Amino acid sequence: MARHDLYADDGTTDREQCPRCGDSFLGEYDDRLHCGRCSYTEWE
Ligand SMILES: [Zn+2]
Repeated sequence: MARHDLYADDGTTDREQCPRCGDSFLGEYDDRLHCGRCSYTEWE
C-alpha cells in the first residue's frame, strides 16, 4: 500500500498553519490562504 506517500504517519498534511494563531490551519482558496479564526489572509 502507498498510503504513506500521501500522508504523514501522524495524519498531518502539509497545510500551512496560521502565523497569527499558531495552532490553526489556513483554509486554501483559489489564490489565497485564509484563517477562519482571526481572518488572517495570505495571498499566493
Ligand atoms: Zn489565525
